[in-house]
Amino acid sequence: MTTLWFDTDKCLIKGQWQAPLGGQSLALINPSTGQELAQIARGQQADIDAAVAAAQGALAGDWGALTAAERGRMLADLGRLVAARADDLAALEAADVGKPLKQARADALALARYLEFYGGAADKVMGQTIPYLSGYTVYTLREPHGVTGHIVPWNYPMQIIGRSVGAALAMGNAAVLKPAEEACLTALAFGDLALEAGLPAGALNIVPGLGPEAGAALAGHSGVQHISFTGSVATGVAVQAAAAQNLVPVTLELGGKSPQLVFDDADLDAALPFLVNAGVQNAGQTCSAASRILVQRGVYDRVAEAMAARYRALRVGPAAHDLDIGPLISARQRDIVQGFLGQTAPEHELARAAMAADLPPGGFYFAPRLLAGLAPDSPLAQQEIFGPVQVLIPFEDEAEAIALANGTEYGLVAGIWTRDGARQMRLAKKLRAGQVFINNYGAGGGVELPFGGTGKSGHGREKGFEALYGFSTLKTVAALHG
Ligand code: NAD
Repeated sequence: MTTLWFDTDKCLIKGQWQAPLGGQSLALINPSTGQELAQIARGQQADIDAAVAAAQGALAGDWGALTAAERGRMLADLGRLVAARADDLAALEAADVGKPLKQARADALALARYLEFYGGAADKVMGQTIPYLSGYTVYTLREPHGVTGHIVPWNYPMQIIGRSVGAALAMGNAAVLKPAEEACLTALAFGDLALEAGLPAGALNIVPGLGPEAGAALAGHSGVQHISFTGSVATGVAVQAAAAQNLVPVTLELGGKSPQLVFDDADLDAALPFLVNAGVQNAGQTCSAASRILVQRGVYDRVAEAMAARYRALRVGPAAHDLDIGPLISARQRDIVQGFLGQTAPEHELARAAMAADLPPGGFYFAPRLLAGLAPDSPLAQQEIFGPVQVLIPFEDEAEAIALANGTEYGLVAGIWTRDGARQMRLAKKLRAGQVFINNYGAGGGVELPFGGTGKSGHGREKGFEALYGFSTLKTVAALHG
């Protein structure tokens, strides 16, 4: 791993790296080896209090005084610093999350792109003038909420920081970031680069720590005006309930059981890489993972065979070896995934990826599985596994495909593979999802594309220009001048 160029066991508060007030730290584990990687701060209520006060101070001071163009320029500068350090950031993320280096590098460049995008957008969010009664001039102002809280998971720390903190800062909010206790290094590196980019003290504060401690303290803090949360449904419910005590708006991004629908007329050669990659990328620990592949009967056997062949060719190994798949994030996550698999009879396993020969003994490795023949209402076909497990389900016709696709409690992303233009349009309207991809899936990350779910996938939108509306509040000004 690259040398750590910042203190890992500190919080960033008011532009300074500070030891947590409770003086405690937590071990960060490298999932590829099971060995300790670093110690991080165990931030608690008092640290969150200090971070919120620092953010309030920034809003009342240097940060709040900047013009939108000045803020944007600063974020763009930060994006350039991130891009210049992409290899270092990738090495940190690979060691911390266990993702192969090339994926980690793509995530670092995505963070840079978010900052470029939101830096450029900062001075382009405008209000309206509204025709009204005679003698009035009415207009709207888009204003920051104030202090925004960002509770981030471990699966894509850099990307989620980019889309959430990047958009919030662009709108002039001051942020308090609580990274995940399982993967925290790139959040801290980001804080260090933000100082180098000249972000005023308190505009960005970072308090690592445990969810029920630092996370809960942030979600329920009366000095916070907006919470952005990405993670599990159960924690999303707790975060929303805590924020409700202060009537604070919440954006929840909670994952899914996203389908890709493959019709008989699909271009299978084009579809196949997307069908498999979207299920196993990041070892399946992706909120928008396509964990259900729904296939029309006429091509079902061909798709099943071709996907199985791809599974057998996948290689699982340590992040630094840059194979197809790294380990899962933790022993706990591997237990969860294996627990799901425990419910499956062996005949349902169509294919399994291969483990590299030289796996470090302590790593949290799990071979991706392709499953078939399961009832659509079985837990494996209904619940988010958050591991590299995909379920193949056949369908007869369009009506059945829609019923299956919409037949879970989630609604995050859906993919449609068909050459029939009318069917593409019909399905795009009928599928219950925040994003629908036609003859592709994921659209290469899509910094510009609004993202979020319905149902148990959560609510609110991040990414794209839409996020700027979410991270701001609208004021209507009505002037009677006669
Ligand atoms: P989690 O939801 O518990 O953790 C996500 C973040 O929330 C972390 O920063 C954590 O510290 C924080 N947190 C935990 N409890 C909190 C609380 N009471 N108040 C405020 N913040 C709190 O997720 P996890 O335990 O890391 O993973 C469990 C499951 O969550 C996974 O198996 C997966 O299904 C899901 N998950 C989804 C996503 C996603 O992108 N949608 C990401 C990570 C995990």
